[in-house]
Amino acid sequence: SDVIKIKNLNKWYGNFHVLKDVNLNVKRGEKIVICGPSGSGKSTAIRCINRLEEFQQGSLIVDGVEMIDDVKNIEKIRRDVGMVFQHFNLFPHLTILENLTIGPIWVQKKSKEEAEKTAMMYLERVKIPDQANKYPGQLSGGQQQRVAIARSLCMSPKIMLFDEPTSALDPEMIKEVLDVMVELADEGMTMICVTHEMGFAKKVADRVIFMDGGEIVEQNTPTEIFDNP
Ligand code: ADP
Ligand code: ADP
Repeated sequence: SDVIKIKNLNKWYGNFHVLKDVNLNVKRGEKIVICGPSGSGKSTAIRCINRLEEFQQGSLIVDGVEMIDDVKNIEKIRRDVGMVFQHFNLFPHLTILENLTIGPIWVQKKSKEEAEKTAMMYLERVKIPDQANKYPGQLSGGQQQRVAIARSLCMSPKIMLFDEPTSALDPEMIKEVLDVMVELADEGMTMICVTHEMGFAKKVADRVIFMDGGEIVEQNTPTEIFDNP
């Protein structure tokens, strides 16, 4: 069953046609890697999926619900779809634990105790439980990105979107973030990842999508792409 159905998505920034008839169906548990040159619309495309960006034409169905402009829909999509950004986007004035519990407490109305229990479980999973009471600025980039992933997981998303999650990291920190993403993939999470990490694509992607000039120009299995150049 398709958990995401994108049909003829078109978006303009003013006169600039940034997404041109993008079509994409994603099955539950599927892992998609999107690559392509800078400025080709990859980030805009995935930001449309969780409605961080508006689009002018086309239809988007997430988990069976058509995403028309409706506050209820936007709330549902923000619950169902987790997103990890290039620049972590953690609250600098909150501790790691507070960064992880603020959503569950305020959005999901969980008790502080329950939210903290879940947060600690995910901090253990991303292997930094000892950082819970520190502030983001005290952590390395790789650790902050793992916190950002854990923060998304605390909201129990059905789908995870990654927008170049390793491109702001020093090389030695890239692997620790990719390892967490591979684990998530192995656990069956539905994932759409914009990334230039071709080793990751080869390892986990069911499909690799190439975008250029706002269009999907090619899509194939990693085996087809990497082994039959
Ligand atoms: P990619 O993720 O492939 O690098 P983006 O989706 O970030 O590409 O951007 C696609 C194109 O849209 C680029 O040319 C970029 O400059 C342009 N763009 C992105 N955001 C905006 C915006 N808010 N207003 C106008 N143009 C934008
Ligand atoms: P990223 O690579 O993390 O997607 P960008 O540097 O492409 O970030 O864009 C950063 C912000 O600037 C985004 O909110 C994007 O929408 C906006 N932006 C990008 N290109 C343009 C543009 N040509 N005109 C206006 N805003 C833009």
